[in-house]
Amino acid sequence: MSQWKLHIPRCKYRARQFWITTACVLSSGLAGQAATAESYTEIPDTGDRPEWVIAIHGGAGNVGADELPTGRETELRKTLQASLAAGARTLASGGAATLAIEAALKILEDSPIFNAGRGAVLDEHGHARHDASIMRGEDHAAGAVAGSSRIRYPIAAARAVMEQTANVLLHGDGADSFALEAGLEVVEPAYFITAERREQWSRIDAQRSRSSSAQPGRGSAFGTVGAVALDTQGNLAAGTSTGGRSYKRYGRIGDSPIIGAGNYAANESCAVSATGHGEFFMRWTVARDICARVEFAGESLEAAAEALIVDTLLPRKGFGAVIALDPGGKVVFVSTTANLKRGVMSSGTSARVAVFADEDVTAGP
Ligand code: ASP
Repeated sequence: MSQWKLHIPRCKYRARQFWITTACVLSSGLAGQAATAESYTEIPDTGDRPEWVIAIHGGAGNVGADELPTGRETELRKTLQASLAAGARTLASGGAATLAIEAALKILEDSPIFNAGRGAVLDEHGHARHDASIMRGEDHAAGAVAGSSRIRYPIAAARAVMEQTANVLLHGDGADSFALEAGLEVVEPAYFITAERREQWSRIDAQRSRSSSAQPGRGSAFGTVGAVALDTQGNLAAGTSTGGRSYKRYGRIGDSPIIGAGNYAANESCAVSATGHGEFFMRWTVARDICARVEFAGESLEAAAEALIVDTLLPRKGFGAVIALDPGGKVVFVSTTANLKRGVMSSGTSARVAVFADEDVTAGP
């Protein structure tokens, strides 16, 4: 166990009928740097031996309810509900977990309020470049695209890479032309750019030109989307899709399309989708490490996820979150940011979504 665990005062611990929330304030020093942040873990009820389960996230962030544009909170909840419903429909009719992931994430990629597909953040040149991946737990099949700029649904392209090629990861123009050959929907790059993202880009760009100390990637908005699912055949899958970090360096690829970092699924252990500061998730191979802890060290899903997100990344100021699901249908959300947009639904429980740390995943609007 990391020594950091010992430094965490558990300021708030609530146990309810089917879920727990653990929130803590971590104040300590590493290499002279103070780190202060909150973390929380939720284990929602998914019913007794569920036949199928889907859990989704719409990115981690630190925006309070009063900082959101008018109507945004309602729109977030509505879109999360629609995403869960699309995934659940697939699973309830016996569809594969990978298909449910794609169905759920396409809704979020289409929505301009998440950092994926249309509405993705822009890189330092003002372009939207997408990263996405999917993994099937049954046979460790995986597919991903990185730095694509024309694929309407990057998660669909990731599945096509997995199912139609002998490769795992295609990037840039190669990914775009593969999508066209595969008969997927391809659009003009301008399609992805919303007025809100253009404005955000201009703000960051202006700050950068005034201060040479500003680093690429500053001012990032976390709104990546991801899903984990268990189907009626007992197979797990995970998918993640993003525009990356706002004002990212030209050519920068994050953790989302990297199997083992921002995404992982194996029937022997678990399925994980991550969101947050991608470089940290890559360096600590977060998604794979969580599953390896479950498989080889016999850790519970929540202990494994906390070991990475709370004990390992947080002290290093690597903020973010994971959603994880095991073959028994247990779902865990672990976050070190104030608002992890999230949702869960199973054969035994109705759809529940949440946006902020201090709420449980209760029924939406
Ligand atoms: N993990 C993503 C990246 O670093 C960003 C995010 O999740 O917000 O590209």
